Amino acid sequence: MVGISNETRTAADIGVQLVTAVESVIGPAPNLIALHEPEFAGREWEYVKDCIDTGWVSSVGSYVDRIEVMLGELTQAKAVACVNGTAALHICYKLAGIAAGDEVLVPSLTFVATVNPIHYIGAIPHFVDSSPATLGVDAGALDAYLDEIAELRDGRCFNRATNRQISALVVTHIFGHAADMDALVELAARWNITVVEDAAEALGTRYKGRPAGSIGTIAALSFNGNKIVTTGGGGAIVTTDPVLAQRAKHLTTTAKRPHRWRFDHDEVAYNYRMPNLNAALGCAQLERLDDAIARKALLAEGYLAAIASIEGVSFVDAPNFSQSNHWLNALTLDGATMDDRDVVLDLLNDANYMSRPIWTLCHRLPMNASAPAAPLPVATRLEREVINIPSSAQLSVLP
Ligand SMILES: *Cc1c(COP(=O)(O)O)cnc(C)c1O
Repeated sequence: MVGISNETRTAADIGVQLVTAVESVIGPAPNLIALHEPEFAGREWEYVKDCIDTGWVSSVGSYVDRIEVMLGELTQAKAVACVNGTAALHICYKLAGIAAGDEVLVPSLTFVATVNPIHYIGAIPHFVDSSPATLGVDAGALDAYLDEIAELRDGRCFNRATNRQISALVVTHIFGHAADMDALVELAARWNITVVEDAAEALGTRYKGRPAGSIGTIAALSFNGNKIVTTGGGGAIVTTDPVLAQRAKHLTTTAKRPHRWRFDHDEVAYNYRMPNLNAALGCAQLERLDDAIARKALLAEGYLAAIASIEGVSFVDAPNFSQSNHWLNALTLDGATMDDRDVVLDLLNDANYMSRPIWTLCHRLPMNASAPAAPLPVATRLEREVINIPSSAQLSVLP
């Protein structure tokens, strides 16, 4: 393969070709084109105004109920709306049975919010490698790694080196592409490890026809401003287990036992409720999700075709088993160094096409410096090679 570091071609050449390719798909950019912008083209204003007109702006209201129903239909599971995706993950981890002192298998190549709530409960992230095909956790590599470092004691999985229990595996569906869930769920079952899906980027994504978020034991969604559906800020906990769903509702709403006037709380819990005002925005957004996904698929097709002819650059296409929501388009600069990558990013951003590297690997962030980690050859390469290019649904128009 002719990589970017081939002596006869420089990163600058490739950057110039990429600018041309991006322009051929989304047009010229007299002003900065953002990586991902929200779109308010439906009934957002009407629903938000309704909250203000009726006074139902805060932590209960009909739009909260409605968004939970809509999300439940979309994910074929039960959904509990909450204040953001990070809080949703925090509750997911508690309900997955992760205890202080446990280890949690988690990709190093993910957004920092996947990892932070592991620390909130005093557990320890244990970083694992990623697959170049999905950008998500590599089941094959994890299988071999657990054989090497783990053992079952009374049916529970332990890290032989640290003597700590490995209680959960967190799987992030990166940029909307589904991770290889069948292989990961099978592997986790063999080791009696609970699977949590970080589906923050994957609302509307399907894996072999099944909605992302409905496959593991429990999952988190995010409706931050940069996601495919936004509530301003918000998130949801999703699970097909009705008992866990009820626990999620209880824990996110101060553990108040239902009563007309009594303050009766039966455990330490959280105020992680999504305000009705935010839910109203989200309901209007969700009404147009199918349309957004269709336009994003078209945009991804356009990029795929335009980038195909650039030697040394590959579009990160969703694997066959994944019907992606195409949240963020990504490509790899094959064989790139960090410096090569930054040259390409400078050229794209100078041309007003906002582009970004993938995240700094989580195991190298200071708060994770002492956390255990598997060998991470693929994640380390992807960190140098993967960049995102403008991906808003409004950048494409359906025929
Ligand atoms: C956005 C995101 C989160 C966190 O969601 P917030 O709503 O911003 O708290 C978690 N994980 C991933 C992979 C994300 O992209």
